[in-house]
Amino acid sequence: MLTFAHQEHIQTYYSDTRNIHLKQPSLTQKISADVCIIGSGFLGLSTAIELAEKGKKVVVLEGARIGFGASGRNGGQAINGFEEGIDEYIEQVGFDKAKQLWDMSVEAINIIDERVKKYNIQCDWRKGYATLALNQRRLADLIAIEKASRQHFGYSQMELWDKAKLKQHLGSDIYCGALYDAQSGHLHPLNYCLGLAQAALNLGVEIYEHSPALDIHSSSTVKIETPQGIVTANNVVLAMNAYIDEKSNKKFGRKLARKILPVESFIITTEPLEQSVADSLINNGMSVCDNNILLDYYRLTADNRLLFGSDSSNNVDMVKKMRKNMLAVFPQLENVKIDYGWGGPIDMTLNASPHFGRIQPNIYFAQGFSGHGVALTGLAGRIIAEAIEGNDQRLSVFEQLKVPTIFGGKWVKRMALNIGIPYYRFLDKYR
Ligand SMILES: Cc1cc2nc3c(=O)[nH]c(=O)nc-3n(C[C@H](O)[C@H](O)[C@H](O)COP(=O)(O)OP(=O)(O)OC[C@H]3O[C@@H](n4cnc5c(N)ncnc54)[C@H](O)[C@@H]3O)c2cc1C
Repeated sequence: MLTFAHQEHIQTYYSDTRNIHLKQPSLTQKISADVCIIGSGFLGLSTAIELAEKGKKVVVLEGARIGFGASGRNGGQAINGFEEGIDEYIEQVGFDKAKQLWDMSVEAINIIDERVKKYNIQCDWRKGYATLALNQRRLADLIAIEKASRQHFGYSQMELWDKAKLKQHLGSDIYCGALYDAQSGHLHPLNYCLGLAQAALNLGVEIYEHSPALDIHSSSTVKIETPQGIVTANNVVLAMNAYIDEKSNKKFGRKLARKILPVESFIITTEPLEQSVADSLINNGMSVCDNNILLDYYRLTADNRLLFGSDSSNNVDMVKKMRKNMLAVFPQLENVKIDYGWGGPIDMTLNASPHFGRIQPNIYFAQGFSGHGVALTGLAGRIIAEAIEGNDQRLSVFEQLKVPTIFGGKWVKRMALNIGIPYYRFLDKYR
């Protein structure tokens, strides 16, 4: 049985400030559905909502608790575009499909707007996001992105800020400029996830917690076994992302797990700050992220805490290391207390391209959101639902993107991370 089967949410700022407390039963019988979704993060729940809105009977199996994975513990930044440069996509799939991909990434943010309004989800959703450059070379990358998205795709929500303009909104001296995007934003991820779950339940979706899918047997229908139950479904959606276990789903698990390099990311949250102190850090409600490979991302929460995350800090004494990272940006927070610290694996692919598709005609998946999962999961859910309904045009555009395979199992991944992370640190410092 999967090791997370009896686990509860880890303790985070989010778990302590959640505004919905859901407890769903485990599956203890044989049931059937049009679609069975495995995993109840943003992807699983978004797909469930899309399908239930179209009248499908949907069952969601969750190994631990709703939002136990990355969706309940991330930085909350919903960012349009992709981690991989758009030029790369133009080269891979041609201009028209690259434009379609860009437009879909913008739609991904609109989906959050729609869901928050339609289902009245209280998750502190707020617009405004800036990518920050630590040196002139990294600023040149931002200038290129702004130009490409405006000239190629007619996107007009981005604004380049020089150091002086950035200083009007951000109380840190270490950056030399920024690319501000008015459309991207941030939210409380666990409350968004639980709000999606509540919406799905209201639409008639059945969600079973502590019910890991142990094995999947497929023919024209698919049979999914849990420790005490069985679901038979016409279609299955694999929404386990970085938590996919190659051993428990030998046929499919290995194929998908080999595309994901789980990079640890850590987050700390300060005690609530006085309004004047909070305003001196960020005064326009935006969230921010630098454009290093191993990056820092941060924002203020609704109760004025600084929520600060970094990729690939050392697991050992993580809070101390993260505090050091935070003080490098905001030395004025020297005497501020850290109330929370936690971490989790980010679902990166080797080239940072999202990995969406089908393993066979009735088994769908989406994973490898590579730092854009808060927004892209909603889109993936929508286009998988479209494909299940018979229109796979948009899914097939994603299926054309190249995503390298990491051969060799867990130890090769560990080695890749051990070698890759110091290398990326070196690149971040000197390139
Ligand atoms: C610390 C951190 C910070 C991040 N910050 C950001 C950010 O600011 N912006 C951004 O866009 N992205 C961010 N991400 C990434 C983002 O959170 C993910 O891309 C996104 O949440 C993925 O959603 P998901 O539904 O695919 O997967 P998850 O939310 O991980 O859900 C997968 C679920 O599947 C369940 N599961 C696994 N195996 C089984 C099984 N066999 N049976 C039943 N259930 C199973 C798991 O328990 C889990 O609940 C961050 C991630 C982390 C860890």
